Amino acid sequence: MWDAKTIIHNGQSLPFHEARIHPLAVGLAYGAAVFEGIRAYWNPATRRLSVFRLEEHLARLDQGMKILRFDDPPRRDLLREGVLRAIRENEPDDDVYIRLQVQIEAIGTQATNGPVGWVAAAMPRERSAKFKTGLSVGVSSWTRIADNSMPPRVKATANYHASRIVTQWAKTDGYDTAVILTGQGKVSEAPGACLCLVRDGQLITPSRDNDILESVTRQTILQLAQEHGIPTVERNVDRTELYVADEFFLCGTGQELQPIVSVDRLPVADGKPGPITMKLQAAYESVVRGTTDAHAEWRTPVS
Ligand code: PMP
Repeated sequence: MWDAKTIIHNGQSLPFHEARIHPLAVGLAYGAAVFEGIRAYWNPATRRLSVFRLEEHLARLDQGMKILRFDDPPRRDLLREGVLRAIRENEPDDDVYIRLQVQIEAIGTQATNGPVGWVAAAMPRERSAKFKTGLSVGVSSWTRIADNSMPPRVKATANYHASRIVTQWAKTDGYDTAVILTGQGKVSEAPGACLCLVRDGQLITPSRDNDILESVTRQTILQLAQEHGIPTVERNVDRTELYVADEFFLCGTGQELQPIVSVDRLPVADGKPGPITMKLQAAYESVVRGTTDAHAEWRTPVS
């Protein structure tokens, strides 16, 4: 497998392990940082990489910087070029996971709004070992962060404090990952992915007002489902609806689309990945990798 050699920091290419910011930088000291996890997929036939839905990731990052009132946020074309350069410079010959992050680099207080700096890093990332067989999840007693305190719509590094607590709980209790409920007790999402279930042939996912991250993958899956004739709905989901679902899966850039085969140790249907889940997993795989001509607009070639 290839290795990350360089990282782009404020437009400058550095050896990967030599990027530096001060430990008291506001981005670290007060968690004032936003990021994107992005993937580029290798197409074995063309031996080329393309970045999946780069524009949507850049747009979400802009929204986060607006909500957090960052001063003088880096322009989108600069960040786009940074992502592509980070990939190119590392000469990967396989799939790539890219982290694009913008942080306040000044030393100051929680009220400091700038100046901001940014990094783009391209790294290898292996696919989950349970990609085909499915995950076990438990519903956490920790609840999801809320829009009126720590907006989940912003992909802020600080939000992952909440995800970490849930993940540590899930691992300790013997689950692969967790379902997190909103403060109102409705299903929100997993620590780093969105959730979808299937009942009576319909794809159901918690709506955007359930404290989810507005996920690029979730939007992709909704569209692919519709194109495959699967009806979709975004609505509130109860915990016990997960117990009686026909199928259940999670989706996100990093996690991709993975079946969930048990919830709170109850099997989902017969405890095996469901047919609609696996059909959507295959459809997702072909659009991200570009083994289909469909949705070429979602793929930015890395040349
Ligand atoms: N929710 C959270 C908390 C996440 O970290 C992620 C991964 N970015 C997702 C959902 C899925 O979002 P996306 O499909 O845009 O990667």
